[in-house]
Amino acid sequence: LARASSQAALGCFLHVDESLALAAARAADERRAAGELGAMGGALLGVPLAHKDIFVTQDMPTTAGSKILANYQSPFDATVVARLKQAGTVSLGKLNCDEFAMGSANANSAFKPVLNPWDQERVPGGSSGGSAAAVAARLVPAVTGTDTGGSIRQPASFTGITGIKPTYGVCSRFGMIAFASSLDQAGPMARSAEDCALLLSAMSGFDERDATSIQQPPQDFHAQMLQAREGATAAQPLKGLRIGLPREFFPAALSADVAGAVRQGLAELEKLGATLVDVSLPRTELAIPVYYIIAPAEASSNLSRFDGVKFGHRAAQFDDLLDMYKKTRAEGFGPEVKRRIMIGSYVLSHGYYDAYYLQAQKLRRMIADDFQQAFQQCDLIAGPVAPTVAWKHGEGKDDPVKAYLADIFTLPGSLAGLPGMSVPVGLGEGGMPVGIQLLGNYFKEGQLLHAAHALQ
Ligand code: GLN
Repeated sequence: LARASSQAALGCFLHVDESLALAAARAADERRAAGELGAMGGALLGVPLAHKDIFVTQDMPTTAGSKILANYQSPFDATVVARLKQAGTVSLGKLNCDEFAMGSANANSAFKPVLNPWDQERVPGGSSGGSAAAVAARLVPAVTGTDTGGSIRQPASFTGITGIKPTYGVCSRFGMIAFASSLDQAGPMARSAEDCALLLSAMSGFDERDATSIQQPPQDFHAQMLQAREGATAAQPLKGLRIGLPREFFPAALSADVAGAVRQGLAELEKLGATLVDVSLPRTELAIPVYYIIAPAEASSNLSRFDGVKFGHRAAQFDDLLDMYKKTRAEGFGPEVKRRIMIGSYVLSHGYYDAYYLQAQKLRRMIADDFQQAFQQCDLIAGPVAPTVAWKHGEGKDDPVKAYLADIFTLPGSLAGLPGMSVPVGLGEGGMPVGIQLLGNYFKEGQLLHAAHALQ
């Protein structure tokens, strides 16, 4: 807590509650004394963490990084928050993020930017930028994040930490403020794959309050991470693991520093016994237009609930109901959110639906099929997380499309609903961290964590 407030200039936290945290820590001590260890044999009991401010919390305000939710207090906890609470974790507060998780630099937070602790002139990535910077600055050992199109993996890469986005449906979306419901997934971010495995075990699992939650028994991802491969040796724990390198993930335009660090990581994986195989994901480039049609379409629908009636901000003066809606939304939403509502409303409107939205849905299926083709030849897929290291604040500010293009390597896995990780592998330009992206087939989180753990 002291570190969190001494490092306030980084902008990681939107809300810190010292008395709640101390009370939770005391309760954890009492539970330990009484032998009530909870999930993962007590590994999480008393562990401090913080939640991305996209998860609703009963005892703290929730803003989703937006002025439209300023002073909003939820009557309940998100399932992910409730489960981590049951496991005995101690929440220090709520973490800054891009408004409604729309962005790649945390520059779209309505409240303040987040500074990258490695170089404060640079962005921490986004949209879980506060989450990533808080772990990188050692303000807290673990955090929650959400990933719709890369928002766990890309900030993890930009700040040299480890993050995992599980298979779509593994973590409940109940109480996670919706951006694009068919893509949104929660996941942990921490200093290591091992910490991520412990957190993910506690926060995941079936939830009847989320209609897309997957009905599978509770998973022990930590045990899966430690599970030795058949034929593996101490020196070669990844023996026999086939890692596919999609040629589209290594284009000529990939910056040399990122390519170098990723190749270094791949060489390390080979030393650990993995074999590298060439694969192809031919529709990689199409993931950008497909995502930037589907995500805004869903967002425009999800955000219609913020009308000044039920949640947060309401314009102070208005003539009638319609005027109240208009003023509330004009005042409450930031420019990127408005842009996406307009794009989303456009692609869903009569006459354009077939040309854009329907086409995008068809291509989404083909992108998912491409992965299944690739997984015939390999167990995991590896590549960069982002084409560059973290950029400087203000760069690309006037060009949203430039930021969209930088999502190229994270969007395909999101559209397919696959699990993905970012694991630190080296340093690039300006001494900034670079992560390698590992993607697995559905429900192969254990295999992903196993490879990431071996690499660390
Ligand atoms: N950068 C992407 C976007 O702006 C992804 C964000 C996310 O995963 N929440 O939509």
